[in-house]
Formats: sequence, C-alpha cells, structure tokens
Amino acid sequence: MPDLEPEEFRRLGHQLIDWVAQHRGGVDSLPVQPGIVPGSVRAQLPQTLPEQPSRSLGDELVALLDDVVVPGSLQWQHPGFFGYFPANSSLLSLLGDIASGGVGAQGMLWSTSPAGTELEQTLLDGMAVALGLGARFTFAGGGGGSLQDSASSACLAALLAGLHRSHPGWRDSGVRGTETVYVTAETHSSVAKAVRVAGLGGQALRIVPFAPGTFAMSPAALADLLAEDVAAGKTPVMICPTVGTTGTGAVDPIREIATVAHAYGAWVHVDAAWAGVAALCPEFRYLLDGVQLVDSFCTDAHKWLYTAFDCSFLWVADAKALPAALSITPEYLRNAATDSGEVVDYRDWQVSLGRRMRALKIWSVVNGAGLEGLRETIRGHVGMADSLARRIVDEPGFALAVPPSLSLVCLHLLDSHGRPDDDATKAAMQAVNAEGHSFLTHTTVNGHYAIRVAIGTPATQPVHIDRLWAALLRAYQLPRRS
Ligand SMILES: *Cc1c(COP(=O)(O)O)cnc(C)c1O
Repeated sequence: MPDLEPEEFRRLGHQLIDWVAQHRGGVDSLPVQPGIVPGSVRAQLPQTLPEQPSRSLGDELVALLDDVVVPGSLQWQHPGFFGYFPANSSLLSLLGDIASGGVGAQGMLWSTSPAGTELEQTLLDGMAVALGLGARFTFAGGGGGSLQDSASSACLAALLAGLHRSHPGWRDSGVRGTETVYVTAETHSSVAKAVRVAGLGGQALRIVPFAPGTFAMSPAALADLLAEDVAAGKTPVMICPTVGTTGTGAVDPIREIATVAHAYGAWVHVDAAWAGVAALCPEFRYLLDGVQLVDSFCTDAHKWLYTAFDCSFLWVADAKALPAALSITPEYLRNAATDSGEVVDYRDWQVSLGRRMRALKIWSVVNGAGLEGLRETIRGHVGMADSLARRIVDEPGFALAVPPSLSLVCLHLLDSHGRPDDDATKAAMQAVNAEGHSFLTHTTVNGHYAIRVAIGTPATQPVHIDRLWAALLRAYQLPRRS
C-alpha cells in the first residue's frame, strides 16, 4: 500500500491546518461540553473498515472532525474551560508536534536520534535553570532531565529508582514486601497506581496526616510514621510531596519533608504536575523551597505550559539512578555510543523502550513564547484567579472552600446559616455547565461539595471570568433549598 506522495501530503496537510486554524478561531462559540449520551458517537460511525483507499481523504477527515469529533468532545481549549486542570494544547506546540512526526525519529537510544536526545538534554538543562531547580538537576551538575509521556509515568519511574536504591537486588529477586511509600490523602491517584504497578500492593501506601488546619503533609507526622514503620520492619522507599494537589492546590513543604526523609534514605519525588511550571516566575518559586534536597521533580508541560499532550518533565539529581534501575540491553540494541558511556540513552529513563521527539514541542513553545511570554500567561491566569476569589469573598452566599492556590479557586455556596450548602453548590455547578459557555468540575473539601475553577487555557481572558461569575450569580438565584 503506497503512502501519500509528498505533494499529495502537502495538499491534504494544508487542508487540515486550515481546519485546525478555523476550529481554534471559533472554539469560543462552541458549547464547552458535548451533549452526548454513551454510544451515540459509535452509532454515527461505520461499523466496518474500508477495503478500498478513500478518494477524498481530506474531505472525509474534515467531515469526521466537524460532524463527529468536535460535537462529541469536551472542548479543552475553550476559553471557558475551567475543569480538572488545563490541558494546554497551544498552536505553538502543534508546530513541534507536526515536526516530530514529520522527522519520524524514534529516540530510544542516543544512536537512534542523536539530535532528539541532545536537544532534549539541552532544553531540560535550560528549563531546570529557568525554574530555579538548581544546577544539581542539570547534566553538567550530575543530574538531568527527560520528557516523559505523563506525570504518572514519571512517578512510576521515580518509584522504581527509589526501589532500586533501597534494594539493588530488586531487579532479580523482586520486591520484598516490606516497602512503603508516603503520601497524603490529597496526593494524586497516580502514586497509588504506581505503587500497585510496581508490585508493592496497595497496603504499601502510607497516608501521612495533614498539618493542622491545612491540606499539606505534616513533616512531624511523617517523622512519626516513618519511625513507627521502620521499627515494625518496613522499608520506606519513596516519599512523595505534592506541589499543587489536584483537589485543592495544597502545597506540601518540600524542605521539611526532605529533611525528615534523608534520615531514612528514602527517595523523595516531588509531584508538581500542575503547579510546578509556575516557578518560571520568581515570585512563585517559594513553592519549591527545598527542591535542591530532593531526588526527583516532575511537572507537566501539557497542563499549564502551553504544550500539547503528552509532555511531562522529569528531573533527577543523579543521572545514573534511572538507568541503574531500568537499563536492560539485549544484543540488538548494543552500539558503540552506548558502550562508550558518553551518551544518554533515554530508553533507560522510562518504562517503555520507544519514544517520540517531544523536545520539538518544548522548543516551539519556548522559542515561540519566550520565557517572558510564558511567565506573562501564568501571571495572567493567577491574576484572574485572584480577581474571582475577591468576588467570591465579597459576595454573601459564596465562600472560598480553601484559599486560592495560584490559578485554582475552590468555592462553596452557603446556606442561610452561612454553612456550605452541598446541594446548592452542586446545582450551581450544573446550572453553569448547562449554559454551555463555561465548564466546571468539583471536589470535596472537608466532606463538602466544592466547585473547582482551574484557570489556564491559553485563550482565557478576564472577560471569560466575568462571564463565569455572572453565571454563578445567576445560579445562586435559582430556587434555593431551605
Ligand atoms: C494531573 C496530575 C497528575 C497526573 O498527570 P498526568 O501527566 O496526566 O499523568 C499527577 N499529579 C498531580 C498533582 C496532577 O495534578
């Protein structure tokens, strides 16, 4: 079966780029949430695959996008998208994405894509400096960074490095069953998943209490739990503080946690999937205070740093740690560059063997926006969150569920006694979502239903916050339960 001729690709490619430009230009006029029931997309699709090549591939693709994909998708790039965390897919990053597929290199080894490997190394060194992580996380400093598919994979890789450090025999004999991993009740579920995937079993996950009155890990409680566990014959392998938890944006104190962890030799992995990129702005760097003391640090480019999924930064302080845990070299992958020990083979930094040139996405974003452009965007989002939070504080009947964290605002509607009103809060969220111009999701805070407003798509402007706030005020006027 012949591929497209390059000239034919040029024609179809232009048609597709035109479609993307048109779609993005008009995304604000679409409902954010699709009005779709399960199975309705499948029902629109042919149930058998074509035997013959299409004679009008471009038109058919555009029709599929217009008729099926767009109406059947949540519009994550809509300026009124405030759900979950953002999944920025900037047009800038799409340039790098296309370039990556266009070159089509598979960068499992340095020798299979020297440019991809060294571009990635260079960009990650630069980003480590830009985030203020310190020279320790650069290749020159003995550490280094890699681009993973997701924060979930990064956490699994870090856990495997931690397991290896605690028990190098792990590679042959497997886990011992005494390993423990420390998180809080706010920690992302991907850590619990990594613990299970690594074969530690869910019981290995230890939930450290919060510091009083916060949703942040208590270093004192961590110290107590570690002492208790070690006395009971457990082996602490990883401690995972979060900077910016998914529910409420809580920030675990890295410095104190790392200091406690060091006495036990446990690997400290910082999960800053959403919030970490804010450290590009010096005024938010305090959130990472103590990061110089940890073993690994992860933040997603694909949440709040303009980069189309998937693209997650993972830095380690010891460049040998991940290869020590993960490297396996069958004969067919042997090569002189690897044997020389002078190159990074990124397959040794991740679970899967193959990998794309994600660095091209980061290159287009960083060069297209400049660090100053990225900082401006982050500051803009944080400023919009502050303005929304002020309105909530000033409006009787509304309250912040927790203090705003960067660009994340969590709120309740209140009952006539000034207590969180779960039913009214939920009804307000549903009413706003039903209006179609904004999209909100929820969490629970102290057992109460709370609306999360996560601000962060590239297109979101103050006018979209005004529109959301007006809808929340309208929703407040809905018939209230007494
Ligand atoms: C979103 C999120 C994750 C998971 O991110 P992926 O890159 O989708 O795997 C992990 N931790 C936190 C704190 C998150 O917000």
